[in-house]
Amino acid sequence: MIDQPIGIIGGSGIYSLLENSESNMVTTSFGNPSSVVQSGIISGKRVHFIARHGLNHEFPPHKINYRANIQALYELGVRKIIATHAVGSLNSLMVPGDFVLSNQFVNRTWGRHDTFFDGPETVHISTSDPFCCELRSLMKESLISGGYRHHNEAVMLVIQGPRFNTRAENRIYYNEGNDVISMTGYPEAVLARERGICYMSLGIVTDLACVMNSSDHPEMPSSHEDVVNNSNASFLKITDVLKISLDKFETKNLKCTCIDSLKGAYVE
Ligand SMILES: [Zn+2]
Repeated sequence: MIDQPIGIIGGSGIYSLLENSESNMVTTSFGNPSSVVQSGIISGKRVHFIARHGLNHEFPPHKINYRANIQALYELGVRKIIATHAVGSLNSLMVPGDFVLSNQFVNRTWGRHDTFFDGPETVHISTSDPFCCELRSLMKESLISGGYRHHNEAVMLVIQGPRFNTRAENRIYYNEGNDVISMTGYPEAVLARERGICYMSLGIVTDLACVMNSSDHPEMPSSHEDVVNNSNASFLKITDVLKISLDKFETKNLKCTCIDSLKGAYVE
């Protein structure tokens, strides 16, 4: 077993994967995480899991304490996080059930605490490439091994929610070049980077948010029912991919620079 635990942030059902599991409440100087931290073994690896929306889905996207979630995992020694995201699609090639490994995000959220450095300590980290390149290749290999349809690059637009977009908003977002839409993809990635943690999003398309200009997929606005139905269908696929990636984890010798993200980022 590798010594360093792996963090997973996602839907509460992932808890069922853990063997020899235990739950512990972790309090941080940034408040409490969304749920108790559920710890256990998956594929021989020590894993700490946080249910992003709470165990009873009590935290909507704009009320999640993203800082406490990342800080709790950091304090438990986690330096690698795989985060699962249900996403809506704006891209006619990305259809429900497809996995998406986003390589960029566009933030359209507001009012979320998106830094650990509110002063007097000030840092400016680079987020040109906001996701860990090594975890990305691990997830890509895992998706290929599992034979899953997937997309290696995508722009993830992160909206505030909790409502879905209007048709006009989706038209604008589509024309801007966004591929998929999430309500929770920000600010986890940047908070993880501020702590030097490798972070990668494993997205799965649960609905066609509003695919435009495509005869194959006319406008189909999202409904919560669509998302729930497809999320349930996606759950087994997500857990399978997580198991495959945790199986492969040991053999990976990560050479990314996430751990050095704060070097040169401090304002002296
Ligand atoms: Zn990394």
